Amino acid sequence: MFEDSVVNQVAGEFELDAAQLRSLVDLFLSEMDAGLQNNGKGMAMIPTFVSNLPTGDEQGTFLAVDLGGTNLRVCSVKLLGNGKYSMEQRKVGVSQELMNGSCEELFKYIALQIRTFLDLHHRDELASQELTVLKLGFTFSFPVEQLSINEGILLRWTKGFNIPEAVGKDVCKLLQTQIDNISLPVKVAALVNDTVGTLMARCYTNPDPSTTVLGAIFGTGTNGAYVENRAKIQACPAARKGDGPSMVVNTEWGGFDNSLTALPDTAYDQELDRLTNNSGSQMFEKRVSGMFLGEILRIAYNAISFRCKEAVLTAFSEPWSVDTALLSVAASDGSSELEELQRFLTNQYAVGRLPIENLRAIKVLSTAIGKRSARLAAAAIAGVLIKYTSPFKKDDFVSLGDLDIGLDGSLAEFFPNYEGYIRESLKEIPAVASLSCRITMGIAKDGSGVGAALIASTTV
Ligand code: ADP
Repeated sequence: MFEDSVVNQVAGEFELDAAQLRSLVDLFLSEMDAGLQNNGKGMAMIPTFVSNLPTGDEQGTFLAVDLGGTNLRVCSVKLLGNGKYSMEQRKVGVSQELMNGSCEELFKYIALQIRTFLDLHHRDELASQELTVLKLGFTFSFPVEQLSINEGILLRWTKGFNIPEAVGKDVCKLLQTQIDNISLPVKVAALVNDTVGTLMARCYTNPDPSTTVLGAIFGTGTNGAYVENRAKIQACPAARKGDGPSMVVNTEWGGFDNSLTALPDTAYDQELDRLTNNSGSQMFEKRVSGMFLGEILRIAYNAISFRCKEAVLTAFSEPWSVDTALLSVAASDGSSELEELQRFLTNQYAVGRLPIENLRAIKVLSTAIGKRSARLAAAAIAGVLIKYTSPFKKDDFVSLGDLDIGLDGSLAEFFPNYEGYIRESLKEIPAVASLSCRITMGIAKDGSGVGAALIASTTV
């Protein structure tokens, strides 16, 4: 039988106190600086060449293409001004053959899907010349070195793609060539990172767009993009030149503190890292994002089973068998018998009736793991807010206005009180506590659609 003392002890290992939170923020700030200076020690801090944030008044029809995994999404966004928009979209699969074929085949496939989409949704407007050339924002979620708003060199493939001849090439050009080959009236206007899209989408729908400073994703992975003073981007001379005082920087904070100087590192985190094929990297992400929390729960639950001399649940015996959605269901079940959780386990995992002690263990662990994720997220958010507000002296805070944050991703959206835990944690960080009444936060959906269209709209 599960013993409460063991369950509480294991759950207690996921607690993160205020002192740890502050150390994380300090380290986050120094890794941000190191990345901006490119001294090889910090986060990637990639300049995005996005310097025009939306005002909410943008209008017109734009295309967005999102290639990020097994699906390709093509959509058109009609920006109506006043923070409003409408959207059409179509999702198609990307076969193994395309993922491992030739460069030409993959990008030709994308171009053909754009043609099908235009035929389905915009044939009349194009025939009547109501639409002439359509600008396209290309969300390409693979590592690229961005050279300008619509130029990016593919560094390597991830997520099962392997087309060696594409590495080292400009992915916008590869797409534009195939678009031109079939004479589509489409210009690849911007290469977009999805986190930057989140920032843009939140800005657009915010009644006071100038207050949005950060877009943050807590979904499969985690990442954040924020507005930086252009002059601070010492690592990239090209980014320092250009119009306007600011540029959006993609932090790639999933790779924060890979050396584990300040991050918590329980036996369960260590076991999880061993099960990944990129052991030692993305250490922040492995404690925060949806791809990993289900697995941490599984490992911790099995550790309790072992200590309480119970057999491992069949459904929990294989690595990666638990989805993070389970954490949300468990943490939000407030009933005394945890009926909802039991039903979910039965329906999704074919688990028979569990003793209440075991159900309670899943709930306690889920809450602890999800709360730790939100507190770690708060450390990253605090780091960005401190960095953003640092040029302002205390007396100037009146002119600073609100600090608005756009969130996206299933964890932020569905894990109970995720945003509440973030807010609570921000108050424990002295440099941010004084700002907490100005911080506004909310879900900004669809960065890779609306956000990408907005970035395309701000290009000339
Ligand atoms: P993506 O980041 O891939 O665009 P999502 O934001 O939906 O998409 O994130 C997917 C991740 O969120 C997956 O790792 C999944 O396990 C997790 N997830 C899905 N549903 C929930 C939920 N209800 N609560 C918490 N996490 C969830």
